[in-house]
Amino acid sequence: MVMCQAEAIGIELARARIIVRGIVQGVGFRPFIYRLANDHELKGWVLNSTEGVVIEVEGPTKRLEEFIAGITLKAPPLAVIEKVEASFLPPVGYQSFIIQASQEQEDKFVLISPDICICPDCLRELFDPLDRRYRYPFINCTNCGPRFTIIKDIPYDRPKTTMAAFQMCPSCEEEYHNPSNRRFHAQPNGCPACGPRVWLVNGRTTNDSFAKGEAAVTMTRYLLSRGDIVAVKGVGGFHLACDATNSAAISLLRERKCRVNKPFAIMSLDCQAVEKYCHVSDGERQLLESPQRPIVLLRRRADSPIPALVAPGNSYLGVMLPYTPLHYLLLEERGDEADTLALVMTSGNMSEEPIAIGNEEALECLGPLADAFLLHDRDIHIRCDDSVTRVFDGKEAVIRRSRGYAPFPVRLNFEMRQVLACGAELKNAFCVTKENYVFLSQHIGDMENLETLSSFESGIEHFKRLFRVSPEVIAYDLHPEYLSTKHVLELRRSGAEQLSSRVEFVPVQHHHAHIASCMAENGVQEPIIGVAFDGTGYGEDGQIWGGEFLVCDFQHFERRAHLKYVVLPGGEAAIRKPYRMAISYLYNLPSALTGGLTLLDRIDPVELEIVRRQIKGRINSPLTSSCGRLFDAVSSVLGVCDVITYEGQAAIELEMLADDSVEDGYHWPLPRGKFPIAINQKPLLCGIIDDLKAGVPIAVISAKFHNAVAEMVSEMCCLIRERDGLSKVALSGGVFQNLYLLKRTLSQLQRKGFTPYIHHQVPCNDGGIALGQAVIANAKVTSLKLRRRSIYVLGGAG
Ligand SMILES: [Zn+2]
Ligand SMILES: [Zn+2]
Repeated sequence: MVMCQAEAIGIELARARIIVRGIVQGVGFRPFIYRLANDHELKGWVLNSTEGVVIEVEGPTKRLEEFIAGITLKAPPLAVIEKVEASFLPPVGYQSFIIQASQEQEDKFVLISPDICICPDCLRELFDPLDRRYRYPFINCTNCGPRFTIIKDIPYDRPKTTMAAFQMCPSCEEEYHNPSNRRFHAQPNGCPACGPRVWLVNGRTTNDSFAKGEAAVTMTRYLLSRGDIVAVKGVGGFHLACDATNSAAISLLRERKCRVNKPFAIMSLDCQAVEKYCHVSDGERQLLESPQRPIVLLRRRADSPIPALVAPGNSYLGVMLPYTPLHYLLLEERGDEADTLALVMTSGNMSEEPIAIGNEEALECLGPLADAFLLHDRDIHIRCDDSVTRVFDGKEAVIRRSRGYAPFPVRLNFEMRQVLACGAELKNAFCVTKENYVFLSQHIGDMENLETLSSFESGIEHFKRLFRVSPEVIAYDLHPEYLSTKHVLELRRSGAEQLSSRVEFVPVQHHHAHIASCMAENGVQEPIIGVAFDGTGYGEDGQIWGGEFLVCDFQHFERRAHLKYVVLPGGEAAIRKPYRMAISYLYNLPSALTGGLTLLDRIDPVELEIVRRQIKGRINSPLTSSCGRLFDAVSSVLGVCDVITYEGQAAIELEMLADDSVEDGYHWPLPRGKFPIAINQKPLLCGIIDDLKAGVPIAVISAKFHNAVAEMVSEMCCLIRERDGLSKVALSGGVFQNLYLLKRTLSQLQRKGFTPYIHHQVPCNDGGIALGQAVIANAKVTSLKLRRRSIYVLGGAG
């Protein structure tokens, strides 16, 4: 009727061809377009292509415009629209609106949705006794459920996921093909009749189940409530679960996992439960409840009923809310003795090995750790650990970017070559780039064993295939001993010659990569002052850097200043034993000052002598300018932490002690003179030791130390500004995970007129290195090619 009126009054008819790019597949986008077209009474079609969603609609131009505006305005909750391109053509007289079959094109790529937590509609069905999926642990729809971890290839269709193994029943099939249904083309769709199932085993084989379905869940709750440890298969891998309010269960888990102090993450039913043991701000609540469902670091309440054993020496707890239907079934309040305030949910692995994903694999490697296994038969194609994040200054600052985030890209404000950047050794994450997207991988882990290396290698192949990337540039860390570096060099050596002739291999300095990563995510390309503070990174002089002031852009960097080199006695041993760093720092101080320090009494005299000899003779002891090691040394001198059991422990415990009300710091004068400046830590150490001997509380000394570092950073930036005329400062490196330090450094810099940049989307630790490596390698190769071309032109002219 409306249509006829339009024609009658001479309104122009047209056909619009629209391409929508972004995360528009597997998020209910085509049914949404179908409904939107029907609402506007437009005819035509929609289809998924490897390029994005393509639509043709025809009708009166005014309605076409409303339709196009509606695409962005009314998009389904999980869609991320990057671009809507429309062109107008003469109408061809479509009679209806239909959803066409997918189209594939080999070289095109689409954005792939991360795994998303159960949506409110599915949650309602889960607990609705009248629903056919009542209490079904794998309930999902186009707005929620697993994605990245089950996708083998694109376009995202069921046969290319691990759901291919399940044949839909007639009811599910009906939903799947009905455009007005919430499960229209929901690839992981299933129900109790046709979909994946759970069962519980005691751990000898995968099929000796002693409970199935609902009974398995109930039994798991019972086992947990009596203090057992249960391995629970999730979305991106296994968790080891135990009751977070049961100290005995937690100690048992620590003992079996050989994890002495490293904090465990916990999961509670909802924010209301979390507020019983942590402070939750509005921003933190939003993150907890976000569809990504990360682990959020929250400040523990003084009266928290969660035992300190969950995160010893730490005033924060890593907390997440349930993200799968199965988690909800485990944590729901049934009013029985199995109800719990929180469950420990830690990665299902032995110390630093990759998280287990397969049923057989889990039984084998988690056998000694778990009393029972809650398994299911939906395969996990790609392992993906939980993400860790927090709120800083009202904004999110990611610490581990993994499930729920990967493989969503970081978007740059310029186009990139196709680059593979291999990342660092610890907290490895790699990336591939295409156009202006950087696809950062999920957390791969510490590259210290073959299992992690193989996860790294297969992950790279998967990303190359998913995003249709064939790298022309491969970026890697300078460190010759990194497994990722060895992998690249091996590739190059064994390297199919056609590969190496086409691919540029670019080594990148670790701290330059840190700063470039911070610049890239903040959209800064011009030269900047970079402050890179971390534990370990290979320097251009072969020493171990980590307290660096750089002036850099993407292509080049110059070292303007660094902490003065000290001996790292015994290399790796000094990282595990902060007291070795303390001895190294004290070595050059007058004995009148260091005499009488309790530290010296705590160390075995034989060991003390060995360390002194290592320092004196420089035996197996490289030099380091690491800021992380300075924190370690101070932590040990103060008696806070002499030996660590997880990375960063000494610095974290020192930070947790710092008295927030202390404003002043130690006098730490900077040397004037020629750049690069070596910053002598001696005055700082003297101040600390004087206070320690005078009986000043450790909390005050820790605070004054942090304040002195912040002050030193801003003073050094002033000296560099005088020389280079730069006033933008990027802060990066794992040391800046220290919020006490970060907060004070930022305020010092702002007070002195600098514009500081910090990380939000990617981690400031080594998990964010790959992004920096990629933009640096891209810039270097681009300039190299320009130079080669000009040489060629000159040569040709001669
Ligand atoms: Zn849903
Ligand atoms: Zn079914």
